[in-house]
Amino acid sequence: MIPDRIQFYIGGAWTAPVSPARLSVENPATEQAIALIALGMDADIDAAVASARAAFPDWAATRPAERRAVLERVLEVTRARQADLARTITAEMGAPATMAFEEQAAVGVSHLEGFLAAFDEIPWQERLPNGTVIRREPIGVCGLITPWNWPINQIALKVLPAIATGCTCVLKPSELTPLSAMLYMEILDEAGVPAGVVNLVNGSGPVAGAALSRHPDVDMMSFTGSTRGGTAVSRDAAATVKRVTLELGGKSPNLVFADCGADLKARVAASAAECFLNSGQSCDAPTRMLVERSVYDTACEIAARVADETIVGDPTVEGDRMGPLVSAAQWSRVQGYIDGARTEGARLIAGGPGRPEGVNRGHFARPTVFADVTPDHTIWREEVFGPVLAITPFADEAEAVRLANDTDYGLAAYLQTGDPARAARVAAALRAGMVHVNGTPQSPGSPFGGYSMSGTGREGGLFGLEEYLEIKALHMPAGWN
Ligand code: NDP
Repeated sequence: MIPDRIQFYIGGAWTAPVSPARLSVENPATEQAIALIALGMDADIDAAVASARAAFPDWAATRPAERRAVLERVLEVTRARQADLARTITAEMGAPATMAFEEQAAVGVSHLEGFLAAFDEIPWQERLPNGTVIRREPIGVCGLITPWNWPINQIALKVLPAIATGCTCVLKPSELTPLSAMLYMEILDEAGVPAGVVNLVNGSGPVAGAALSRHPDVDMMSFTGSTRGGTAVSRDAAATVKRVTLELGGKSPNLVFADCGADLKARVAASAAECFLNSGQSCDAPTRMLVERSVYDTACEIAARVADETIVGDPTVEGDRMGPLVSAAQWSRVQGYIDGARTEGARLIAGGPGRPEGVNRGHFARPTVFADVTPDHTIWREEVFGPVLAITPFADEAEAVRLANDTDYGLAAYLQTGDPARAARVAAALRAGMVHVNGTPQSPGSPFGGYSMSGTGREGGLFGLEEYLEIKALHMPAGWN
């Protein structure tokens, strides 16, 4: 008997859905159903939006210190439930146990720490030199649509700033990962987030997501997912002139210079491992490795070895390993890219099509490396969202920058170099929202987001809080405020 999780979290209570549609949630490692959820329709979204709208005036009127106190309780409860979150994420999307706890679930804590650190910096009211008083106010009811690849990461990056700024919201998580989202609602409930401030409706993007994006009582949409989904949300939100922030895909370049010297092996190995992290299902994964020609063959060998040595298997086992892809559809999509790259003439140097040897169940793919990838190849341009690394040589710095910027996306870029002057010069020339030098990771509270077709807006810390605020200019007689 599959556990029944068909209720939605609306107005602070688990509520029966109006929609009769149901979906079973699958464990991608075992291909077994692990829960039954409801797929909401317009009437469910209407109920959730009405609840968020009703809660808005009181929540918007709370003092920042009251909201901070609620967020501090959320932090406590999130820490206490981190292991539950990790287990749920492993079960519904296949992230390996250690990584699910240390990264997938941990960011629920670290993002909140980042928001709390930034919270006191918000000038809720200030006076401009010209005398005008500026008030920062919550934008209103927010519709939040999140994907399956880093489910708690993206929920935390949207729900927490909404709560912090005095907004109320309706979350529609991916239908592939609804269970961690429901667990997160339990955390917020236990922490004392007032009824109606956060609401959850499960459902498909084209039905529940579109109903939310179109809803006249929603003031802002924040979406993370595919470019196709993001453009659909933008179109649906346009008629009611909502603010829309989008965090979309990437095809992030990783420039490896010969001046890494003795660090070359470590830098290339870490880069390849990062590409395969989360089975390659990260929007900011360093998927295009551009290597200076004098060290190209060595880099190819190192990356291929990392792929060959990556353990792929049961994600419930602790330790470094790669789990399955999220779904059969995602597995087929990735296989299509692997087959296409071979047909188009890229040189396969590790991995390849099919499941890893000896694995006959679950959506497991092989860590795969293609060398001699050119800008004419599909895997140069399109987000594979699987464990597939593309390697290309370059002659000099100018060519490296040109190749790196030859993309419709602009989310992250990576640089491996031993020369600080080069790092500064190249980082400035890269058209990307985030540049990581020599594996330096993102710090909590830093802005996450990209240029161009990677989206609009930034998430995390002060920049992420500002997305949820309106600016009011108060023109008043001198001496009044
Ligand atoms: P989607 O963009 O379809 O899914 C992301 C979220 O958007 C889900 O909650 C989805 O709902 C929702 N959604 C989809 N269509 C609409 C719509 N018309 N209106 C409102 N919401 C919508 O991504 P997929 O799951 O289909 O993955 C496809 C590809 O997208 C991947 O291979 C990858 O390249 C990219 N992707 C990028 C992500 C990123 O972080 N940048 C995250 C996920 C995917 P539901 O799925 O429940 O129907």
